Amino acid sequence: MARMRRFSARRHGPVAQTRTLPLATLAPGRLTTPLITLPQREREARDAYGRQMTYLRISLTDRCNFRCVYCMPALGMKFQPRNELLTDHELLRLVGLFARVGFTRLRLTGGEPTIRPHLVDLVRGMKAFSGIEEVSMTTNALLLGRVAGDLRAAGLDRVNVSIDTLDPVKFKAMTRGGRLDLVWQGIEAADAAGLRPIKLNAVVVKGQNDHEVSDLAALTIDRPWQVRFLEIMPLEGVGTVHDQGLVTSEETQARLEERFGPLEPVTADAADPARLWRIKGAAGTVGFISPVSAPFCAACNRVRLTADGKLRLCLLRPDEVDLRDLIRGGADDATLLRQIRFGVWRKPWGHGLAEGERETGRGMSQIGG
Ligand code: SAM
Ligand code: SF4
Repeated sequence: MARMRRFSARRHGPVAQTRTLPLATLAPGRLTTPLITLPQREREARDAYGRQMTYLRISLTDRCNFRCVYCMPALGMKFQPRNELLTDHELLRLVGLFARVGFTRLRLTGGEPTIRPHLVDLVRGMKAFSGIEEVSMTTNALLLGRVAGDLRAAGLDRVNVSIDTLDPVKFKAMTRGGRLDLVWQGIEAADAAGLRPIKLNAVVVKGQNDHEVSDLAALTIDRPWQVRFLEIMPLEGVGTVHDQGLVTSEETQARLEERFGPLEPVTADAADPARLWRIKGAAGTVGFISPVSAPFCAACNRVRLTADGKLRLCLLRPDEVDLRDLIRGGADDATLLRQIRFGVWRKPWGHGLAEGERETGRGMSQIGG
């Protein structure tokens, strides 16, 4: 008999029910247990804990025009041969299938999504599927100034831009070569094109940008933007940056309150991993995303599609379903739909960082953060 492990709703939040599950359902890298009849409606994808997946993060490429210190190692970064990445046709076919099982929101990411050829056409194609209500993108914005208007016209709804500091020298160091002036132009172009609300993401790294968080937060005083501070996660290749550089959301909030006084809480969407606050009288908000100190696994509604066509069930666990090989092996839509729903069913409960689990198998840029 399979070993059993008990999970309690009290510990993990309201979404999970107290139940016992076969350990194989939860163990990283184990996707080989027999197919079972899924007790879920055909047009939705739910995991074994009852969480419905509606949000697909799609990595368009594992390549990038930056080399951020918390995302890629200084040396030895390897990129996948292009023929291993999903073609536009394969990608759109999969998006259509995800839409059929209840996915309503897509986020394009990478690597850097703006370097993917035919990006505008891809956005248009994705937005055309019935059931897809929102297509957004996370970008470093280096090239956004050139394409923001076309992306908006094609149906892109909004963007999140990664920007860790407002100091050009520090920015160049943290991105290993990035130009802050062009990124800022990209942000302004996105705002002018109506890709709103503009959200800015900053990964806070001790000794690098932690003393500048209040300058980023100050952007929200006059602008209706959301500036979000992320805790660094220990993905493949950047484990030591995490170990030496982690700054918790609590520490970041304390720094902001030193300058601005107590932040005022703002109610956020339950599925939004950011806890939102406002500087008194500010036009915008600040958010804290705390995967390390306060995991939001209980409310997780997302899975990822990597650029090489793997359905990645949890950012920080290596469990994947190889949809690309199924497609290239001639799988029909019914088979692909079954594998998507079965994969979702097998989604691990949570990332296990608190229990010391670290086996991610890939770096952030290879998964699609
Ligand atoms: N290149 C785009 C960008 O930087 O916005 C999209 C891909 S990037 C991998 C997506 C997000 O992941 C960015 O906001 C980035 O700051 C974040 N990120 C990368 N590595 C991270 C890490 N180790 N911990 C936490 N966030 C990370
Ligand atoms: Fe590139 Fe984004 Fe990773 Fe920075 S965080 S290296 S911009 S993929």
